[in-house]
Amino acid sequence: MVLEKYKQKRNFSSTPEPSGDPRVAEERAKKANPEKGLFFCVQKHLASHLHYDVRLEWKGVLLSWAVPKGPSLDPKTKRLAMQVEDHPIEYGTFEGVIPEGYGAGIVMLWDQGTWTPEVEGVDAALKKGDLKFTLDGYKLKGSWVLVRTSGRWGSQSGGDGRSWLLIKHRDEWAGEVDITEFAPRSVKSDGDFEDILAAEQPDVWQSNRPAKGGEAGAMLATIIERAARLKAGEAPAPASDKAKGTRENRKGTREKGQGKRDKGKARAPRAVKKADRKPRATTSATRKRKS
Ligand code: MN
Repeated sequence: MVLEKYKQKRNFSSTPEPSGDPRVAEERAKKANPEKGLFFCVQKHLASHLHYDVRLEWKGVLLSWAVPKGPSLDPKTKRLAMQVEDHPIEYGTFEGVIPEGYGAGIVMLWDQGTWTPEVEGVDAALKKGDLKFTLDGYKLKGSWVLVRTSGRWGSQSGGDGRSWLLIKHRDEWAGEVDITEFAPRSVKSDGDFEDILAAEQPDVWQSNRPAKGGEAGAMLATIIERAARLKAGEAPAPASDKAKGTRENRKGTREKGQGKRDKGKARAPRAVKKADRKPRATTSATRKRKS
């Protein structure tokens, strides 16, 4: 069955993700013309860990790889890409909040466009583990390759063939700029994670947060706080010391338009912050389930 693994992992009564209509996949597969370009997208996904999901349309579904560090425009920087279950084509426009269960967290549509195979037989290339292709997105362009690894990374994951490397080929679109830092926002809404969360329920994770410790946990804590302020019609709070690293990483690298909301309103009243914090103080005791 098409998308069997995708469906097994999800409960569609509790996730806003598309369930995937097999007829849509069938129609899509019929219409596809690789020479004209097929759909691709990259979703920035803050779940238990931050990662970037690279998805290439093929035969009516989206072949998918989770890239922990995101794509790099530098050909010297090979990025680990773990192949995950095929996703429905409808997933390609998805952006939103997954409140619980598999992949719980925030999904941002970080890039989208078309991809064109640079080889005759895509199936053969996938089987061989060496797929060369051209991307024409808003952020990612030019020639790339996905290469399956059998060595170090392959054996680390049990050698099940899910480990690939995503590598930029040297061309006019290659460069040293860190594209994930340079262009961190959504190509769909122009929002950042806190805007996506604020548009829905910023208080969705008063307990049982999808990211608990480490970098992702600190990042999520800041995002929740900022989302609550946005929802309340206030400017997001200045980053606390705890989240300083995250804040500083972003400084000066945000895209145009980002500054508007922050400017002049940077010193929001502190009173709300305390109120926001109160329910969260109970979370460590109440969170039990593992997402
Ligand atoms: Mn993901």
